[in-house]
Amino acid sequence: MEDNTQIGILMTHEQPPSAPKSLNFIEEIMEADLASNKHSGRIMTRFPPEPNGYLHIGHAKSICINFGLAKKYGGKTNIRFDDTNPVKEDVEYVDSIREDVRWMGFSWAGEFYASDYFPLLYDFAEYLIQNGKAFVCDLSESEIKEYRGNFYTPGHPSPYRDRSREESLNLFRRMRAGEFPDGFRVLRAKIDVQHPNMNMRDPLMYRIRRAHHHRTGSDWRIYPMYDYAHGICDAIENITHSICTLEFEDHRPLYDWFLEQDTEEKFFKRPLPRQIEFARLNLTHTVMSKRRLLQLVQEGIVSGWDDPRMPTICGLRRRGYTPEAIRSFAERVGVAKRDMLAEASLLEACVREDLEANAPRRMAVLRPLKLTITNMTPEQSFDVELPHFNEKPESGVRKLRFTKELWIEQDDFREAPPKKWFRLAPGAEVRLRGAAIVRCQEVVKDSQGGITELKCVWDENSKGGNAADGRKIKGTIHWVSDEEAIEAELRLYDQLFLAEDPMDIPEGQDWRQGVNSQSLETLSAKLEPNLANAQHGQRFQFERTGYFAVDSDSTPKLLVFNRIVGLKDSWAKIEAKS
Ligand code: ATP
Ligand code: MG
Repeated sequence: MEDNTQIGILMTHEQPPSAPKSLNFIEEIMEADLASNKHSGRIMTRFPPEPNGYLHIGHAKSICINFGLAKKYGGKTNIRFDDTNPVKEDVEYVDSIREDVRWMGFSWAGEFYASDYFPLLYDFAEYLIQNGKAFVCDLSESEIKEYRGNFYTPGHPSPYRDRSREESLNLFRRMRAGEFPDGFRVLRAKIDVQHPNMNMRDPLMYRIRRAHHHRTGSDWRIYPMYDYAHGICDAIENITHSICTLEFEDHRPLYDWFLEQDTEEKFFKRPLPRQIEFARLNLTHTVMSKRRLLQLVQEGIVSGWDDPRMPTICGLRRRGYTPEAIRSFAERVGVAKRDMLAEASLLEACVREDLEANAPRRMAVLRPLKLTITNMTPEQSFDVELPHFNEKPESGVRKLRFTKELWIEQDDFREAPPKKWFRLAPGAEVRLRGAAIVRCQEVVKDSQGGITELKCVWDENSKGGNAADGRKIKGTIHWVSDEEAIEAELRLYDQLFLAEDPMDIPEGQDWRQGVNSQSLETLSAKLEPNLANAQHGQRFQFERTGYFAVDSDSTPKLLVFNRIVGLKDSWAKIEAKS
């Protein structure tokens, strides 16, 4: 712990913060503090998750702010598991949080638990009692609420408020010793029962919970409240800027009050940490609170916390999102003072941009339709070379065999083509990507009238895809050879909720009814053979259909891919307009 307080030193004259065009308000505060040398040039932040669920994209935003700003200003960040509530927390969550932060590309200076500080929190509570700043209250929960009043009516003092310090101290020690049942007594700060800020009306500091704690076992029978514990944990760790979400704005006076009661400076080093609030991030078409996400998991509405439709970091990772894309998203939504709702499409645009540059191209036929070239012999099969990246020839090529029997997308054929249809249709010509030009001569159907096969002829002089006579072929479609194709399962995802805000529903209606039952579509697809050795986590662009990542459900027998995000579909746009 001691070591930790020393890290994060930044001598402002050695390493002046760069001066970008516009700073967000947290950066402004940090730069002002660096300029005034308030913390001797140190920047120390913390990320304080409660280990009661998996992290989601909102937490990712908080991670980027806390770790990102510390990094920018040469400081450090601690991770602190806020485990003050013994009943809801679990080691499973601790492990997942560590993994997620690491995956996001950040490393922490120290890893702590609020429970590490239970002894000091207890000592400081005794100190407050001894100084007449806290008292043991015997009112019930509902009585406390009643005495406290509300925004319009002043509170009145608890009858136990003027209990002697000795009596409070004695009762507090007995609370700790486990002499009383849960909820029998509480420790409260003695501040001001008429304070306009409700949080200041003699708030609770400790409650009796004779529960097992995942780290301290049964050592403690009383547990500190978040508002009491948080600032003190920050101060112990020498945090300079304690960044949290906006709902804690009204709690800031209390955050400061507790720390300021250390008048003799016996407990905390100066200067004290400063709480700064920013707006929570919300995302369209999903829910974000851990409680609701937990419900989705427990009720089997999704397959788990890492279901690729979940807004959790592990869900996004499994889906195929990159940490770069999530960081870029966090950057683009910015840091605001007012709650914001970010478009899911912005997150999608961020990953598309990253993968556009970094995901090698492959061909995959999602909904296969057989295409046979009637005038081609098996001996006429030939190799086609296609680049891994079209714009980067230096990235190398992959080989594909072009043969008589092929697969194309059902979507690339229309029996009755609309105007401006440049793909395949009866009698029409199309270019098979990088290979040759074919013309559709016959449509084979089953007894129900479903199209089962297209019989085509090829232009032998169009190897590579261009006609020798220079005639123009507007449409190019992708294909896979039947001889080489591998089968794979593709999982296509849609938004988990069709409504932008799933919680914006008529009263009495259950938000879970808004779950999009069509949000997962599973396809059996035909893939080019170069994907046979694709490894879990690898990402590709399947030409014309989207970006895909190998899912952890893949086996040596069957590859499973998740569609991370689609490409912008130009035909869908044309059709939507007409
Ligand atoms: P939830 O309400 O989803 O359960 P929480 O606030 O209880 O989230 P914590 O584990 O307490 O979750 O959060 C850890 C940190 O992440 C806190 O500093 C919190 O303010 C921040 N955080 C949580 N949700 C968001 C969000 N949607 N946007 C930005 N920051 C968030
Ligand atoms: Mg919380």
